[in-house]
Amino acid sequence: MRTQVGIIGAGPAGLLLGQLLHRQGISNVILERRSAEYVLDRVRAGLIEQGTVDLLDQAGVGRRMHAEGLVHDGVELSFDGEHHRIDFKALVGKAVMVYGQTEITRDLMQARAAAGQETVYEAEDVQPLDISSARPSLTYRKDGVSYEIGCDFIIGCDGFHGVSRSTIPAEVLKTYERIYPFGWLGILVDRPPISPELIYAHSERGFALCTMRSATRSRLYVQCPLDDQVEDWSDDRFWSELALRLDPSDAARLVPGPSIEKSIAPLRSFVAEPMRFGRLFLAGDAAHIVPPTGAKGLNLAASDVFYLWRALSEHYETGAMAGLDAYSQTALKRVWLAERFSWWMTSILHTFPEASSFEQQLQKAELGYLVRSPAAMTALAENYVGLPY
Ligand SMILES: Cc1cc2nc3c(=O)[nH]c(=O)nc-3n(C[C@H](O)[C@H](O)[C@H](O)COP(=O)(O)OP(=O)(O)OC[C@H]3O[C@@H](n4cnc5c(N)ncnc54)[C@H](O)[C@@H]3O)c2cc1C
Repeated sequence: MRTQVGIIGAGPAGLLLGQLLHRQGISNVILERRSAEYVLDRVRAGLIEQGTVDLLDQAGVGRRMHAEGLVHDGVELSFDGEHHRIDFKALVGKAVMVYGQTEITRDLMQARAAAGQETVYEAEDVQPLDISSARPSLTYRKDGVSYEIGCDFIIGCDGFHGVSRSTIPAEVLKTYERIYPFGWLGILVDRPPISPELIYAHSERGFALCTMRSATRSRLYVQCPLDDQVEDWSDDRFWSELALRLDPSDAARLVPGPSIEKSIAPLRSFVAEPMRFGRLFLAGDAAHIVPPTGAKGLNLAASDVFYLWRALSEHYETGAMAGLDAYSQTALKRVWLAERFSWWMTSILHTFPEASSFEQQLQKAELGYLVRSPAAMTALAENYVGLPY
């Protein structure tokens, strides 16, 4: 078998790249370790930047997003008994869209199936081979049979635990990491959001976030210790703790209900450099992770895909390698800006168990300054809606 671009991973990065390349007439095959149902069941990101919205439109999968997605012109910050709105529209003239990662994945899977593009689900032991040569290939097993696909390029869109990143020789790959001393316990619940916009709450008991997936479905989070297990958190405990962390006027609007999903995600910042070795390119979580506070994970995957799509299109149109050669440097510039913002949002809004009283006072000063300074609010808004590609 032969294809122009071999893609590992059918998460949002792999599916979006595959769809954009297909529309450009560039053949591609996606190899995914899990089943399609498993991929669709993962509840993850829900907030997308305008750049991601535009890219989904260019991929021809924006119809349902525009019909069902919720446009948000701002967010609420709550702390010390006060509420402050950061008005993106007024500050930077842009907005964000609430539309679940599961829905984006579903739209992309349907478009791929309709176009007859090949995705191999439950592909076992996927391996990129000969990535330093001009003729790399992908091998895998399916139903006990071994296969090999010859490719011009291999794109590793296989997430943080994938195989691609480890294919880059250790002496070439440099990694940067910060592990935060807490996680996010999240529940999904069929209850309307308590507020039309997201509420980011800082309290002495820890951080909380009220977000949503639709007008009838809420996604709610509380910061929790790293060693907590989902079983430690009954629904009743979750609702009581959330109420204690919110402003009383917000807590009064909570309507507790049974969770339809509950999970704990550790928080991590991580970057691997370079994002390209030979004919292997990394995109999305395969190359970088951000804590979810700034809602940047999925959006960074989209901007990587944009740079790759542009570079591969240029290559297949003109034979030029310039865009591909510059990919790692170009993508990493935006990655580090999103890393900085996600780290900063995490630092100002969470309760750090080891923080000294001096650091706690600094955090208070930072939050107070943020909501009183138009310059500081503009900086938050500019990053939150997404920096330009
Ligand atoms: C629990 C959780 C909650 C999150 N919440 C948010 C949020 O609220 N907001 C936000 O912006 N971001 C959030 N994120 C981050 C966001 O979901 C990711 O940034 C986004 O999914 C990245 O897309 P991706 O395609 O790069 O990687 P993934 O979505 O991880 O997709 C990678 C795919 O590759 C497949 N794969 C892995 N290894 C192999 C292999 N060896 N062979 C073949 N296939 C393989 C995987 O099965 C998977 O389908 C969250 C992430 C997690 C884990």
